[in-house]
Amino acid sequence: MTNMLACPSCGLDKTESIVHRGSYILRCAACGEAIVATSFMAMLDSDHQCSAFIDPGPGKHPPPATLVARGPLRQITSAISAAASDGTLIRLISEAKD
Ligand SMILES: [Zn+2]
Repeated sequence: MTNMLACPSCGLDKTESIVHRGSYILRCAACGEAIVATSFMAMLDSDHQCSAFIDPGPGKHPPPATLVARGPLRQITSAISAAASDGTLIRLISEAKD
């Protein structure tokens, strides 16, 4: 498996998923260092259940009032893209299906 991504700055492997404009970024939850960035478009074809929030900052839990969208990723991408288009950072949080 290649999903154990450690932060190059502090070595922690706890990451957060962030959308910034058209990019999908894995960010260290401890120091905020961007670890991996890819196109958000690569994520679109997914039924993965997610919640999208306005990003409160590294290591912080977003309050419920900042929810942007919730549901299967392919159904909420347009809402996420709209919210991220002005440069707002959007935090994606995976939700268990059951
Ligand atoms: Zn770090």
